[in-house]
Amino acid sequence: MVEEQLHSESRQTSTPRLDYVFLSGVLALDLVNTEVIVRGKRYDLFSTPEDVARWWQEVLTHHPARRGRFIAPIADLSAFKVKEEMPAIMWSLPLLERIKGVRAAIRTLCTNLVEQQPFDREALTTLNAILATGYPALDVASGQEMVPVYRTREADQGAVLLPIALSALHLFTQAEKHRLHKCKNDRCILFFYDTTKSATRQWCSLDCMNRARSLQHYRHIKKEQAFNSLELQPQH
Ligand SMILES: [Zn+2]
Repeated sequence: MVEEQLHSESRQTSTPRLDYVFLSGVLALDLVNTEVIVRGKRYDLFSTPEDVARWWQEVLTHHPARRGRFIAPIADLSAFKVKEEMPAIMWSLPLLERIKGVRAAIRTLCTNLVEQQPFDREALTTLNAILATGYPALDVASGQEMVPVYRTREADQGAVLLPIALSALHLFTQAEKHRLHKCKNDRCILFFYDTTKSATRQWCSLDCMNRARSLQHYRHIKKEQAFNSLELQPQH
């Protein structure tokens, strides 16, 4: 699906300009999917801190509950509020590096899950380090109403990192594991959470399915042609 989002014609740079993808409403996976393959080449959509800032702005439109005070009930950690003590996020190189580290950890653990491998300890440690910066607290919603919130000890970076880590925690412990998939197209590296009723989705997008199928068809034809030419060879 990413290829259609390529609009390199307007830019003379070597890296094509690619749009961020939001596939299944899971923040942790939205982050993982900021690495894409376009025409066989892998691209990291996070080159600068500004890229991450632009992505986060789009996150806020795709996850409106995360705007301002981040929401999630105690039984369902995905809805826990992460309350920002300071609204200003410092979009710095250290934050870019930390987000890339968290992204790599989530990709590794997603791969471990779908491939049924033992969990990578280092990836777990990376995520746990971010989770350790958050703590549950009570907040007064209105009048006699109290609500559970998550606060972050890292005012400038925790407002981004903690919601991502909580989303991963929710995905790995509360979600239905059989719904987590890597796109079946082996030339695609996107992950998605299948929310269809039948839970039979295999592709990140219809385009990816069509491309993979036409490639499969092409390989099949090639194989048949090779087989036929073998059969036609004279016997010695
Ligand atoms: Zn795909």
